[in-house]
Amino acid sequence: MLKQQQQSKVLLVDDEASVLKALGRVLLYEDYHVVKASCPAEALEVVKNQSFDVIIADYRMPIMNGVTFLREARRFQPFSCNFILSGDADTDDVIECMNDDVAERFLRKPWDNKRIVEEVNAGVRKRDKAHLLSQILANESSGKMPPPVGEYSGNNLAQSHDVLQHLKSANFDNEFSLVYQPKVCAKTGRIVGLESLLRWNSPIAGVIAPDVFIPIAEEGSVINDIGEWVLNETARFQMRWRSFTLSDGFRLAFNVSPKQLLDGCFVDKVKALIDSGDLIPEYTCIEITESAAIDDFERCCTQLTRLSDLGIQVAIDDFGTGHTAINYLLKLPAHVVKLDRSLIQGVESEEKSYNVVKNVVAMAQSIGMKVVAEGIEIAQHALCLKNMGCEELQGYHYSRPLTEEQLLKVLAQQPFKV
Ligand SMILES: [Mg+2]
Repeated sequence: MLKQQQQSKVLLVDDEASVLKALGRVLLYEDYHVVKASCPAEALEVVKNQSFDVIIADYRMPIMNGVTFLREARRFQPFSCNFILSGDADTDDVIECMNDDVAERFLRKPWDNKRIVEEVNAGVRKRDKAHLLSQILANESSGKMPPPVGEYSGNNLAQSHDVLQHLKSANFDNEFSLVYQPKVCAKTGRIVGLESLLRWNSPIAGVIAPDVFIPIAEEGSVINDIGEWVLNETARFQMRWRSFTLSDGFRLAFNVSPKQLLDGCFVDKVKALIDSGDLIPEYTCIEITESAAIDDFERCCTQLTRLSDLGIQVAIDDFGTGHTAINYLLKLPAHVVKLDRSLIQGVESEEKSYNVVKNVVAMAQSIGMKVVAEGIEIAQHALCLKNMGCEELQGYHYSRPLTEEQLLKVLAQQPFKV
């Protein structure tokens, strides 16, 4: 008997039962396997255990909105294609959040059945492409054969190889861009720093989220070229924004891949930019993930010390996701700890969670490090972290990542209420 073609899976998240019912009916008719969740908490349990091709989330839901939910879900579903369902009133909010690659598109209520089906079909094709590409790379590095052609609907291996080649030969200036997420001083509410975040819009593969394409770039040895582009773009940003943003203590941070850091040339390139006056070390910060720093601790320390000696601030990113022992943190030549968003979720409602984070903040400060909390999504997060003495806050409660044009407006509107 022929193996039955696997059904594509769609997760619907909406607090309105009538929406779940109506949308579910449309997609079931198209032979999708539909799973429904009536709130984000329920949906998060589902995405931990099942894989989805497409996730459609309502924007307005109690406790957690659709955007926050999709950000959470991304951890478990790196390849799903996500849509936000929203009314007209939220259009500005939703469009801006797409800058962060949380959602692929937004579908306006009331929806058109035909359009929903077309979008979901396109989403499944896109999801297959990103997933297949990552499998090819995983197989290449492990020496295994790629999966047979035709196992993925609406896609083939040759197409995906094209995408990989495109990543390698992309015209960075045309296809890459940076967006900037503010870091807000917990005491004054003023923006005291920015984290630049990379975006890739490929003419072949479309918009691909960084958590999907960065690991691919690392496997495919393109990461150094990408990292160099980010470094140069950071320097260009400093030039353009010198008179607007730069003041004592203001830092523009960019993320550095561990592979890039351990490549001997990286620090030399940074130094060359400083020597030529194109990069101001006092206004620059690099963020490196906690796990990366620990994987090759000695070499990492050497490179971070060189950067620190140049006057660049070093931040340990995603703190709380790995298993960093305190003695590692003590030895790392770093100035800042960035608490991962997963630590922050729950501080407002769970006493244990609050106490753990409070102790982490105190511990980091006791060894002279500044603490930045990521994932500040609601006012209670900000209040809790402020009360713990955390210095800087970053997250959607204040601002999503912004284009330079949007940044100009936000800078004019500060200080934020903290
Ligand atoms: Mg970062």
